[in-house]
Amino acid sequence: MPVPESLTCVLCGAAYREGADQYSCPECGELGTLRVSYDYDRIKASASRDGLAALPFRDHWRYLPLLPLAGVGSEFPLAVGATPLYPVPGLRRALGLERLWVKDDTANPSASLKDRASSVVLLKGQELGRTEFATASTGNAGASLACLSAALGLPCHIFVPESAPRAKVAQLLIFGADVLSIRGSYSEAFSLCVEASDRFRWYNRNTGYNPYTVEGKKTVALEIAEQLGWEPPDTVIVATGDGCILSGIWKGFTDLHRLGWISRLPRLVAAQAEGSQSIKQAFDGDGTIRPVNEDTLADSISVSLPRNGVMALQDLRASGGSAVSVSDGEILEAMPLLGRTTGLFGEPAAAAAAAALVKLVDQGEVSSTERIVVVSTGHGLKDVDAALRAVDPPEPLECSIEAVRARIGIR
Ligand SMILES: *Cc1c(COP(=O)(O)O)cnc(C)c1O
Ligand SMILES: [Zn+2]
Repeated sequence: MPVPESLTCVLCGAAYREGADQYSCPECGELGTLRVSYDYDRIKASASRDGLAALPFRDHWRYLPLLPLAGVGSEFPLAVGATPLYPVPGLRRALGLERLWVKDDTANPSASLKDRASSVVLLKGQELGRTEFATASTGNAGASLACLSAALGLPCHIFVPESAPRAKVAQLLIFGADVLSIRGSYSEAFSLCVEASDRFRWYNRNTGYNPYTVEGKKTVALEIAEQLGWEPPDTVIVATGDGCILSGIWKGFTDLHRLGWISRLPRLVAAQAEGSQSIKQAFDGDGTIRPVNEDTLADSISVSLPRNGVMALQDLRASGGSAVSVSDGEILEAMPLLGRTTGLFGEPAAAAAAAALVKLVDQGEVSSTERIVVVSTGHGLKDVDAALRAVDPPEPLECSIEAVRARIGIR
């Protein structure tokens, strides 16, 4: 199994070796996130596309030959990854697209894509000798770390802004995490969690800051490639806050490309909320990631300073992709559109990716035969209050068949 060859800073290019205290670049600070690279010739020599099926691992661990882990040990207690890729005929009809799929990552144990990163970080931390874990989170990263830590019997500390949606806080508490509800923003909780992890020797899972979050999230791309018969899509659209999922998707496809397991790369589309579009502004502007005033109901992508922003911007450019911003109103329209045409219920951030697709279709920026994958990153039940803003509540009826007749227009 591959040991990372080096961890390279996205800002200054300095290379580091792996270590239990190695997070972002000490020279460049928190924005100097580290790219993990491997000896691809060695992987090629020992692993193959067809060999994956023969491995004794379930779920996303079947990609162990591409993960920065010595092993998975005994059976992992919960099923992470191996989520469905649905062809969504109803949404295809609604949008006039012939080759569209939704990757339903709400099917993960804690109901978001974050489980891919948390599971890898939990195993990596243990390999590095750590026994206690921590993360800052807008909600899902915390719910995910809490869920999988509970399953593994490991203690964890979760820093969330006071404003996190109730259902996500409920998840944290039910999973028995030590919940630190911070009077402050996600950014402030993030920095405090870094300081506390340092002080108390907790292994830190903060998005972007821990280089293995990207490595974990990349398994979604490995699955998409395999599910499409190793013929990658033309376009992948994903909701983007810190930019870690976007970089994970790019890392997954580029790893496969370097191994020669796929012959081309997709373009990526970063779907951002208008109220939190730092990466889009940098992409369309001078390329500098600057903090913005975070203001969107899509809490999972509500980020002032994207922690994986520099890497995400580089990856977006390398993929020949683009960034699209959507308003909260467009997100609230996309939630029921997705629901009634596919039977899938995405939280506002997940719906932001669908809203971005609607916008690209309206603007004629995708062709009807393009092969497009939209990633549904988190479940709608995680934020019922937001969902109820997207729909009209029903008028209560008298409990009689006459009232039902009148209601459906039959006499
Ligand atoms: C975390 C998250 C995102 C955004 O991921 P980043 O890595 O922060 O860009 C999108 N959707 C959901 C549901 C999430 O939990
Ligand atoms: Zn650096």
